[in-house]
Amino acid sequence: MRISFYGVRGSLPSPGPATAHFGGNTSCVLVELADGTILIFDAGTGLRPLGARLMGSDKPLHLLLTHSHWDHIQGFPFFGPIYQPDREIHICRSLPEGDTRFAGVLEQMNGHNHPLSHDTLPSVSRYMKDPDQFFGRHDFGFRRKALNHPGGGYAYRIDVDGASFAYVTDNELDPPGKPATSFGEWVDFCQGVDVLVHDAQYLQSDMPMKHGWGHSLVSQVRELAHAANVGCLALYHHDPERTDQQVAAILDDSRAWIAGKGGRTEILCAFEGLVIDIARGPGAATRLEFNALRPAAMVAPDQD
Ligand SMILES: [Zn+2]
Ligand SMILES: [Zn+2]
Repeated sequence: MRISFYGVRGSLPSPGPATAHFGGNTSCVLVELADGTILIFDAGTGLRPLGARLMGSDKPLHLLLTHSHWDHIQGFPFFGPIYQPDREIHICRSLPEGDTRFAGVLEQMNGHNHPLSHDTLPSVSRYMKDPDQFFGRHDFGFRRKALNHPGGGYAYRIDVDGASFAYVTDNELDPPGKPATSFGEWVDFCQGVDVLVHDAQYLQSDMPMKHGWGHSLVSQVRELAHAANVGCLALYHHDPERTDQQVAAILDDSRAWIAGKGGRTEILCAFEGLVIDIARGPGAATRLEFNALRPAAMVAPDQD
């Protein structure tokens, strides 16, 4: 399993010299499975450079949305493969089965919010009727969990050939009122996962004003990763106001915290171009390899 990050920022794109290292594009992560299956988590502005890379093939694509806030759907109209004739794009929408509320990712292309209408796209871009049934036909484990986030949404977990990945954004681990998913249930959902990508937008200094806005404190996220015995925690959905220097300070602080706990979790702050390979080591153990895409590989056609 290979995980590549194309957008790691939360709420709003934030380009500029102060954010150039971690990157300013909003949520988008590519997961490639050994059998060639392509899974894309969220359609933030990071989807645009990913689309340029995926134009080199005609493989079906699977887009798994956590929810329909702008920072998770805004890249879709600029995703090259939607303009490829007959390219199959299967979209796992974020709303419960039967919910007919405004879904967003396709409907934003309506001639009003975007010049084109999604009805005119030459690709076959459509919502899955039943994601659990759809992925049930595939050779990997697929699980969802309700997010603690205004408007709702889903987190995802993928298990295949002994490798596991969980994508949990936007999620407030300790929200006001009754959570959709409790901290203990998150520990179960993320238990033993090789790589956990989790929303870590806020610091204690953001509170109490932002309590209830649907994002977690860094301190809560690392508690979760430690409690769930996670292999690698990628802090994600960085606040748009957070400079590279400030994100790097969060990383130093988090690594010191986990070392103090004697925990095994590797902690990093996700950045655009980060690639994590989950491979099997000797015996049953999994091995993680960390690399960075060369800038050209962010947009070049896939040569694999
Ligand atoms: Zn978001
Ligand atoms: Zn959101």
